[in-house]
Order: sequence, then structure tokens, then C-alpha cells
Amino acid sequence: MIYMQYVELHAHSNFSLLDGACFPEQLVEAARVRGMTALALTDHNGLYGVPQFCRSAREAGIKPIVGAELTLENACHITLLVKDTRGYGNLSRLVTKAQLSGSKGNPRLDFAHIAELSGGLICLSGCKKGEIATLLLQGKREDAQKTAWRYMSVFPPGSLYLEMQHHLDPEDRSLCRKLMDLAKKTGIPPVAANNVHYGEQSDHKLHDILVCMRHRVGLDDSAPFRRPNAEYYLKDHKEMLLLPGLPPEAIGRTLTIAEACAFELDFSSYCFPDFDLPPGEAPCTYLRRLCDERAPGRYGGISDEVKGRLEQELALIERKGLCGYFLIVWDIMEFARRNGILSQGRGSAASSLVAYLLGITPVDPIRHGLFVGRFLNESSAVPDIDIDIDTRRREEVIRYVYEKYGEEHAAMVCTYVTFRARNAIREVGKVFGFPPHVLDRMAKSVSAYSPVAAIEELKDVPEFRQYLDSAAWVHFCMLSRQIADFPRHLSIHVGGMIISSKPISEMVPLERARAEGRVVCQWDKDGVNDAGLIKVDLLGLRMLSLIDEAALLVKKTRGIALDLDRLPEDDPSVYDLIGRADTVGVFQVESRAQMQSLPRVKPRSLEDLGIEVAIIRPGPLQGDMVHPYMRRRNREERVIHLHPLLEPILRETLGVILFQEQVLQVAMAVAGFTAGVADRLRKAMDRKKGRAEMERWRDTFLEGAAGIGVDKARAMKIFDLICGFAEFGFCKSHAMSFALLCYRSAFLKHYYPLEFYCALLNNQPMGFYIPEVIIGDARRHGVECFPVDVNESLWVCSPEEHGIHLGFRYVKSLGEEGADAIVAERKKGGFRSFKEFCFRVRLDKDALRSLIIIGAFDRLERSRRRLLWALRSVDTIGLREMDLDTAGDAPLDEMTGREELRAAYSIQGFSASSHLVELYRDKLAHQGAVKSSQLSRLASGRAVKIGGYNICLQVPPTAKGFAFITLEDEEGLVNVVLKPNIYRRHRQLVRLKPLLIVDGVVERKDGVINVVAEKVSDMQP
Ligand SMILES: [Zn+2]
Ligand SMILES: [Zn+2]
Repeated sequence: MIYMQYVELHAHSNFSLLDGACFPEQLVEAARVRGMTALALTDHNGLYGVPQFCRSAREAGIKPIVGAELTLENACHITLLVKDTRGYGNLSRLVTKAQLSGSKGNPRLDFAHIAELSGGLICLSGCKKGEIATLLLQGKREDAQKTAWRYMSVFPPGSLYLEMQHHLDPEDRSLCRKLMDLAKKTGIPPVAANNVHYGEQSDHKLHDILVCMRHRVGLDDSAPFRRPNAEYYLKDHKEMLLLPGLPPEAIGRTLTIAEACAFELDFSSYCFPDFDLPPGEAPCTYLRRLCDERAPGRYGGISDEVKGRLEQELALIERKGLCGYFLIVWDIMEFARRNGILSQGRGSAASSLVAYLLGITPVDPIRHGLFVGRFLNESSAVPDIDIDIDTRRREEVIRYVYEKYGEEHAAMVCTYVTFRARNAIREVGKVFGFPPHVLDRMAKSVSAYSPVAAIEELKDVPEFRQYLDSAAWVHFCMLSRQIADFPRHLSIHVGGMIISSKPISEMVPLERARAEGRVVCQWDKDGVNDAGLIKVDLLGLRMLSLIDEAALLVKKTRGIALDLDRLPEDDPSVYDLIGRADTVGVFQVESRAQMQSLPRVKPRSLEDLGIEVAIIRPGPLQGDMVHPYMRRRNREERVIHLHPLLEPILRETLGVILFQEQVLQVAMAVAGFTAGVADRLRKAMDRKKGRAEMERWRDTFLEGAAGIGVDKARAMKIFDLICGFAEFGFCKSHAMSFALLCYRSAFLKHYYPLEFYCALLNNQPMGFYIPEVIIGDARRHGVECFPVDVNESLWVCSPEEHGIHLGFRYVKSLGEEGADAIVAERKKGGFRSFKEFCFRVRLDKDALRSLIIIGAFDRLERSRRRLLWALRSVDTIGLREMDLDTAGDAPLDEMTGREELRAAYSIQGFSASSHLVELYRDKLAHQGAVKSSQLSRLASGRAVKIGGYNICLQVPPTAKGFAFITLEDEEGLVNVVLKPNIYRRHRQLVRLKPLLIVDGVVERKDGVINVVAEKVSDMQP
């Protein structure tokens, strides 16, 4: 029987990593346009794109067929398709075996494994690089026949086919003929496939670029690697029939195979492991008992409110079969607690009373009025519980999970490094053979993440115009845009872990990560989610490391044991510090945008801090400096509630919707939705669903509102209000967890600045500022930082009575081992001379040079130049002969303060003794520039000149072309606002120069001082 249809059974998406030029979704769309009823995805050695492929295919009404093209040990290819659940498990295990037995990035599969795990799989003999095709092309017909027999012994009839491809290559015709001969001889039915590498023919150009990247060649040298023509797109039935040498029955047979494949990707029903319980306990009774035991400790007498809420949550958790999940997370937290590892839950989970009682989350959901429906509702999938852990000790927790559940049952989730603006420009440009220095400058000149926006940005820069108008660059721009968000390679997700009762490799393939010894699964967090797997996020949070370390230092230096869990949360002086925007190093409120808003908002409670964290975030709102909430808080605008029903929900945020929970609550109150339905509405907005879907939601909403008796006009308004929020999306429970850390870090900064700065320096990089700025801020708070000293410093920075001793960790090319060697040797007695140091601690020359330059020997030997000279002579005469006395005759002048400062910046990025801008102070004063500390004495509207170190530039996409820079001088930070025309004029200067002079006007408002720039110039022209 000949079907009048064709189904593609061999197609690559961009998850064939640099060997496929469209997203799985685009392949599905191409199939839909061609009226295909089914489509297979067969990426190289991976099931990476399977979740989104299956989802989008189902949405398009196309049957997804899961498959993969595997590479055998002899480098030949084989195409495998999944028939059923068993076959899926086998394919996933085969991919895992290929990935783990080959070297990283070079998977290889032993055919013997296929023989073991062939159940439920359909085998196509492969492309031109298939074993059989390769032998036929070499003219080895008998060997090809033997190989076919081998395949037949593994795959029973109905699950083995000879794959026939034809791409109008000269050799294709004869290969097809040979395959047909073999089919007759062996009885293996032939089937057509087009080895698709892009959906539309026009995408072949992008595919060529990807192939060049993969082989690291330019376009001009790429002929041997590139596909010879543009025939590897998704062809429809008619186009396939036109290919000479492909018999119609081989084309029609694709449909038979498609019909035989019936596998649904869905693991939601059977994946979480049972928790080890005491004898006689069931998960639900045990969970209930744990909560009952802990409630009195948290609440004293248990109110009806607590009781009712607990009952409601437990019933929901039980009904959804999540007791084991909560117990597993509880167990992980208990491990952390037993071992003194600071950790706390974040995200929507923080609204759950059960999570709070189990010690998973730190915020009391009753006291802070947290609504649980966002985390847990009748129709939600599995809720995500995210745990923040002291970064330094996260590894211990991960190891615990591996040990407890076994390597087979726990795996890290991957993340895809994708093409963003900068790497797209660099890599695409390189293939085109454009000059590297131009590409480098272009990459540094863009602030956008997306290549699409970046290309637009480049067009506005005069110095690039000459390039972008030429023909080759037009192509470059087009392809850079097209490559946006393509996966480039795999990396480990910051903390996602799946834990499962089934061996994980049966559900998702595993492969080597770049990090030594780590194995990751081939799906990222969205893929894991789409497939219905449960994960726990174990995230490293450096702020927890900072808090832990600072508390330990307080104990050590002052003998005070701080119980951070029981700090008073209403200390006015802590809120004063925050309100002054004295927040360098304070969690979540240290950015420029935060510092601008804090003096206006003046938070006075944890609730206020939660709102502050939620309102001012990098991204959506950064540009919009005056949020309605702030206007209302400052009584510049009246608080209005669109409907009395909203009043209790939005009272605390002055009538403005700020939190995801509020979206749900509003929809429930106004339209009578259940929490589950309301949450689906929130998700639809979040995922920026199409207009049609939002209109459907609007109708449902209005219907519900009518039922409750809310008039239509107001219901419309309220719906729009919720939609307007879609840009936003912050969980209140999440904001509250972060507010708590914000308060604690501010508390430490206020009462224990020495320990705070020390811990802050020891946990870099974190937060918003470079060490340079932190040291300046410390100095302004009376905490001196002393230079690294061979007789004093440790690896880490360490507090002493009057300040902080900078640690060896900031010395370039020394390393922890070098530092340990110094400290170990010092224990036997301090160093008395440079020469003695060199003898006792055998460091390499680069490390010694760095130590000299930053002044680590200054207290032994003042002249750095002499030491450098002496070090030079070691090469010629050897260490033993090194003579510091003759070094006195060094033919070079002593280093000036200016040189020492520059040298220190080059080695450690800052100088402990002075600020870079001091070098220019005379020159600046001469030009009439003021210092940052003088700004507060200048009237608004006054012209001013100010110079500083350019520490941060922001061009928020929502700021309508405004840009903001932060300058630092020896006395503090200065905010500079650049209007769009000024930014455009000085763009390259502001982006690329470290030291700037700004001429502008002082602007003061609500305690915030800005300089509005009129002109920007380079301090070192
Ligand atoms: Zn192939
Ligand atoms: Zn292929």
C-alpha cells in the first residue's frame, strides 16, 4: 500500500550543537506548514531538545517521534527511533553509555550495547556515514551484507530499515541503487529520510556558519566541511517523490513507522523516591507528626488560624502525593543544620506553613500574611523548592544527596550556554574573517544581551557605520540575529538536582560536564519541568557565606555569639543605614537603582524591605524611576482601590499589584477563580502567551466577575491591571526571604563593620561592587585595609584591632598553595629579609614579582625597585648568589608613589593605601573639579565638574535611551545621569574608558544627588 504522505524520520535541531540550524519548535512549525502528521527528532548523541520538541509538536497537533543519531565506536552513524516506553528507557541509556564511554564532546557507542538494549527501538541503518552505507560506498558489498545480517540479528522484522537518502549529490544515485539491491537480498525494507538540518531551505546559510564554528575554520576554508548544497531542509511528500532513486514505497513506508511509534514523554506519575521512614510510619503520617511536634515551638499556643492553615496545606500535600518530596527536602535541610551549613528556602515555597515548620524556609507565613496558593494549589504541577546554601559548603550538601540516593538516582540539571550578543558577534564575525580587533571592540560596545538588539545598537555607533553598510556585514548582521539563543554547549546548572526512584539514565541521558568528575543530565530546568520530573534547587548564595563568616569573626574577635535567627527585626538604626542608602555590600539593596530609591522610600520594616526588593530590580523597572507605589508612599498620589474587594489584598502595597500572590488573590476575589485557575492565568501572562489566549482569559475573567457582581467596566480595568503586572512577577514569599538577608547584612554592617567588610572581601566576587569600591567604602566607615604583608597576611583577609589585613587571595599569580607555603614557613619564625624569604619559601618568579610590586616586603625592604632588580639577577647567578647589596646599584630610579599605585592596580585591582583618582587630583583641582564629598554642599542646578573611576555603566532597556554611570573617587560614589543625546555622543568613551571627567549639573531630589552630564571626557587623554 502506498500512502500519499511522507513523514520525516531523521531531523536535526540546533541541539545537535553546531550541526543544525533551527530550534525544535521551528522544525515542528515547518512540518505543520507542510501538512506532516508526525515528525521525528534525531539529534546527535542526545535527547536535549526532546521536551520542547514533544510539547510544541503536541500543541501543533503533530505526533512527536523521539529518536537520536548515535555515533558508534568506528565513528559510523546509526539512527534509532523510540517505539514505546521501554524503547525510550533503552535509548536514554544508550545515549548515556555513548556519552560516558567516549571522551567529553566525543561520544562513542559500542554496538554490543545496542544489542543488549534494542527492545522497543526501531533502527534505521543511518546516513551516508552509516556502517552499511559506508561499506557500500567503498564497494564492499559483501561486508555490507554481513553488517546487515548483524543488524538483523539484533532488530527483529518491523524494527529494522535500510535508510535511503538523496541530496542530489553525484554519488547518491548509485548508493540508492546499491541499497535497493541489498534490500532485495536481505529482505530489509528500505525507507526514505532526508537527514534534515534546517526547516527551510533559506536557513542553509546559517547552517554553513555553524559548521565553520564547529570545525574552527573561516568561510573561505570551509569547503571540505560544509554540506555541498542546500538540500537538507524539510521536504514534503511531493519534493521527496521528485528525488531520483527513491522508490515511492520507501517514502510511503515512513508513515508505517510513524504509526508504530507510540511514546508519550511524561514522568509525572512515577519519579520521586520514597523517603526512608521509621518502621510503621507512612509518609503522610510522618509529615503530619513532624509539623505537629514543631508548631508549639514556633507559635506557643496554636491559634485556630495556624491550625486551619496547617490542615489545609497538609490535606493538599497529601492529595497531590507530595509528602515524600517535603520529607526529602526536610532531610536535606536537617543535614545542613547538623553540620552548621547556613541554608534557607527561597521562592514561592516560603509561603508554606509546612515548609516553615519543617525549617525549610525562614519566614513566618502567618505573621507576614503570605498566601500559599501560588506555591501549592489544587491544579499546580509539582512545586519547586529552592534552597540557598552557603556557597563555600554547597558541595557538601550535594555530596550528601548523591550518597543518600546513589549516583543512579540523583543528577545535576544542565544549563545551555547560548549565543548572546557578545559571543554571537565574535564567533559569527570570525567565520566571516572580519578583523578580530574590530569584533572585539564591537562586542565590548554593546550592552544588550540579545544579538537582535545588539545589532541595532551597533548601527547607532558612528565608528562602526562604515563596516555595517558593506555587503558582507549585512550578512553578518542577519546571521548574528538568526543565531540568537541557539545552544552553544552544555554546562552545569547552578544547583538544580533531580532525585528519582527510577535510575535517572532511563529517563534522561547523562553526560560528562566540564567540571571534573561531574555528570549532568541533558535537560535544563525547563526541560526537566516539561517532562514532569521533580527537582530540588540547591543554590549557592554568597550572602549566606558572608553572614556565616562575619558572625564567626564577631565570635572570634569580640567573644559575642550572635543568634541571627533571633535578631530583633525592628532596630531603627539598621533601617536608618538602609534609608541613607549606605548600602554597599548589603544584600539586594546596593545597586545604583536601589540607592536612588532608598532615600525616597525609607523602609522601616521587613515588609517594606520585601517591597523594596521586589520593586527595584535589574531589568524591567530599572528605568522607570518613579514607581506608582513610591509616589503613593510619599503621598504624591492618592491611594485608590479599583474595587472594595481589592482593598484587603492590596492594602499593604497601597493599591498597587506588586506580587505574584496578589495576582492570584485578585483573580480569586474578583472573578471567583480557584487558586489553581488563577495560577494558570498568572503563568499565561508570565509566558507572554499570544493575544488570542489572553483574550480567552479575559472572557473567562469577565464571566466570573459578572457572577460575583462586579460591573463589567471595572472588571475590565482590573484585568488590565493584572496584565500590566505581567512584566513584573516577584513572589512576596521570595521577596521576604531576601528581605530577611538584607536586614541581617545591614545589621552586621552597622554594628560590626570590621567583621562585615572582612567577610565581604573574603567572599568576592559577589554583589555589585569590585573590591576597590568595597575597600573605599570600608575606609569611609573607619575600617582601614592594610596591604598584604608576608609576615602578617593569611590566604583570606583577616581582622585585627584597627583594620583588616588584606589576604594573599588578592595577589595575582600566587595561588592558595603559594599562600599556604608562606604561612606554614612563617610558623617556624617570621621572615627577616627578602633573601631569607626566597630561600625558605620557594615561590616562582611571577609570584615573587607580584608580592614585591604590591608591597608585601615593604616592612623588610623599602625599595621595591631594588627587590625587582635582585629578582632579575636570580636567573643569571642563581638564588644562592643573589646579593641585595649590589642591587643597591640598580640602574633604575626608585618607584614613585604614582608608579607603585599603578602597579598595585595591575596586580590586585586596587591599592590598599590610596585611590587611583588621587593621582589626578592636582590636575582635576586645577580644572576646577570637585570631590564627591563636596557634592552634598552644592545647590541643585549648579554647574559642576567631577572626575572618577568608572565603576559601573547601565543602559536599562526601559529607560528610553537614558544611561547611568557610577563614578568613584577617593571620597565616595557619584551617580551620573546621561540623557539620550549625551549618551549617544559619548557612548564609546563611557563604555570603554576607565577614568572619566564629567561636566554637568547637580540635581537633588528627595535626598538623592545626581550629576546630570552635559559633557564627558577622558581623564587620561
Ligand atoms: Zn549522520
Ligand atoms: Zn543526521
